Amino acid sequence: LSFESLNLDNALLRAIEESGYTTPTAIQSQAIPVVTAGHDLMASAQTGTGKTAAFMLPALNLLATPHELKSRGPRILVLVPTRELATQVNEAARKYGKFIRARTVSIVGGMPYPLQNKLLSQPLDILVATPGRLLDHMERGRIDLSRLQMLILDEADRMLDMGFLPDVERICEQLSAERQTLLFSATLDGDIARVAKQILKNPKTIQV
Ligand code: AMP
Repeated sequence: LSFESLNLDNALLRAIEESGYTTPTAIQSQAIPVVTAGHDLMASAQTGTGKTAAFMLPALNLLATPHELKSRGPRILVLVPTRELATQVNEAARKYGKFIRARTVSIVGGMPYPLQNKLLSQPLDILVATPGRLLDHMERGRIDLSRLQMLILDEADRMLDMGFLPDVERICEQLSAERQTLLFSATLDGDIARVAKQILKNPKTIQV
């Protein structure tokens, strides 16, 4: 399988080529068609498998389609457990989204509010955030999520382990039911299965 056969926008294929990737990894070749077909997805994938591109490429593909400018808020929201992961995911979004000029912002705990307020007041496409700080901004009315089309939970098992479940649930309550939701986790059993049932709609499941 090649990246060309995955129906991704040419601007993304250019960025993939520039990244030096020649072949999709297992999780990428399985997840990308499911996501571009519009399904919700539950995927088990460890770090190092290429999971970031597995969700970021089809997410960016959504941005390649123009959308009405009725608001300035993000079209894609990625929830992550840690600051470090937020930085990695944000950098991946910049790298793969370079040629579609995706505007991406990262909002994490422990950083000053004034700078984040400024970042959130500008138009953006992708928001990468840790749940607690995102909820803070939502409750202060600083984020317009009316344009949101896709919610991605990365390392969902770690978010649960860190006690972010109540925050994640409260965030989900405020998002459009029409959204597409992707959940990536090292394991898909127990608590994760329960959460998935709550926030995903008829998801396809992938295990690599
Ligand atoms: P991840 O599992 O998302 O943390 O990615 C692990 C590493 O694999 C990152 O450094 C990516 O840049 C790299 N990577 C992702 N997809 C591919 C690919 N298709 N071919 C080669 N390297 C890749």
